[in-house]
Amino acid sequence: MIVKSAQKTKFAIAGGGMLGLTLAMRMAKQGHDVTLIEAAPELGGLASVWEIGDVVFDRHYHVTLLSDTRTRNLVEEIGLKDDMRWIETKTGFYTDDQLYSMSDTKEFLTFPPLKLIEKLRLGGTIFYASKIKNWKRLEKMNVADWLTRWSGKGTFEKIWEPLLKAKLGDSYRKTSASFIWACISRMYKARRTGLKKEMFGYVTGGYSKIIDRLVHILDELNVKVRLASPITQVKKDEDGRFTISYKDNSQQRFDKVIMTTPNAILSRVCTDLSQDERDRFDKVEYLGIVCASVLLKKPLSPYYVTNITDDWVPMTAVIEMTTIVDPAELNGRSLVYLPKYVPAEHELFNKSDEEIREDFLSALDRMYPEFTRDDVVDFKISRVRNVMAIPTLRYSELLPPMKSSVDGLYVVNSSYILKGNLNVNESITIAEEAMETVLKDELAKVTA
Ligand SMILES: Cc1cc2nc3c(=O)[nH]c(=O)nc-3n(C[C@H](O)[C@H](O)[C@H](O)COP(=O)(O)OP(=O)(O)OC[C@H]3O[C@@H](n4cnc5c(N)ncnc54)[C@H](O)[C@@H]3O)c2cc1C
Repeated sequence: MIVKSAQKTKFAIAGGGMLGLTLAMRMAKQGHDVTLIEAAPELGGLASVWEIGDVVFDRHYHVTLLSDTRTRNLVEEIGLKDDMRWIETKTGFYTDDQLYSMSDTKEFLTFPPLKLIEKLRLGGTIFYASKIKNWKRLEKMNVADWLTRWSGKGTFEKIWEPLLKAKLGDSYRKTSASFIWACISRMYKARRTGLKKEMFGYVTGGYSKIIDRLVHILDELNVKVRLASPITQVKKDEDGRFTISYKDNSQQRFDKVIMTTPNAILSRVCTDLSQDERDRFDKVEYLGIVCASVLLKKPLSPYYVTNITDDWVPMTAVIEMTTIVDPAELNGRSLVYLPKYVPAEHELFNKSDEEIREDFLSALDRMYPEFTRDDVVDFKISRVRNVMAIPTLRYSELLPPMKSSVDGLYVVNSSYILKGNLNVNESITIAEEAMETVLKDELAKVTA
């Protein structure tokens, strides 16, 4: 469908992450008048890029799975399919001050910290979870209880708990079992799609290339992009249109507004929402991240992810990006991410760069005997308070509909990911499904 009217409905999309970018491109391709508004000085949101040392690369580590069909379709749609590389990866486990490889069945079967019965129960739990269709049932159970019931206490403490901590920090304690179901389903699908091996993909140059290409396409499609413009209010006027106010006190008017930003700002910004909607958005708890990028002269290990079970380690995992990305793209350097997932209001957000750097590097000193401080070329810290809505018990019942009680105002953000965990494929899914459902009438209506 191509919109023909000379007097088109003016859509504002708030938030220029992968969800907002996808929505803007798809709506503009249908001929709609779209303005994309982003608080930060650059597009990309969690998938944005920055400069570290002498390289430009992703601010947060990103890979694509073979089963991420929507991400792969988007990459193809924007002409970057040939730039996609698929790499087989290895996984490490750091437990009791020892680094183990746990990358294939043989290594799993000989993994010393687990007894044979614990290994069998672990394998059984994964297989069982992969067969579950009624994920809503799992929303009523706590993830730790559910995993302990199926895998046993030993396996939970030695394997599941560190994995949950790596993804959710201590917030795993309030997370429902649907979370682990979503993770297992995604990994299981990825292995079925491929060679039963763990293959991860990336576009050469990282998200920098994807976002640059999207920016170029949006420009060709006449999408207006407004950067460095935090929205402070979205207000419905008497004439049925909306006024968007910005931090610099400027204002713009639109016919329809689609919010892709985290829920945390909604009740403050969208003051016309009903009290019930505002309360429900406020009740969604967010997980934040403090994620260090470390540019090194040489690699630490052969593992893409090293899961950590030892409590003394301040980060929740070690991610070695250059086990996937060709170091030649990073001027021969090794790029390592040290993430720590914490609740949005955690005190870690107030720690200085110097303190975090010292804590994290001291951990590397102890974990990797070959590592020396001289290896560090650059160290940068990203802090984001509202990364991911925590799938708490009965989470799907908490969310109000995407089509809000304010006619013309929609909330289409990653908190509506119900059958998956936060990843680009799911963000694109939310954008695409919203266009086919809640936004469908709105998008059809504007054809004059
Ligand atoms: C450490 C980390 C690792 C990850 N690894 C992977 C991975 O390996 N593979 C994968 O597929 N995905 C991964 N993800 C997830 C992926 O980054 C997200 O799914 C995706 O980027 C989310 O896009 P989004 O548009 O939904 O949200 P966001 O990127 O959060 O976009 C929301 C946008 O809204 C803007 N905004 C907020 N407030 C306002 C305001 N008042 N006015 C205007 N704009 C505003 C924000 O600045 C932001 O740009 C990872 C994420 C993190 C943090």
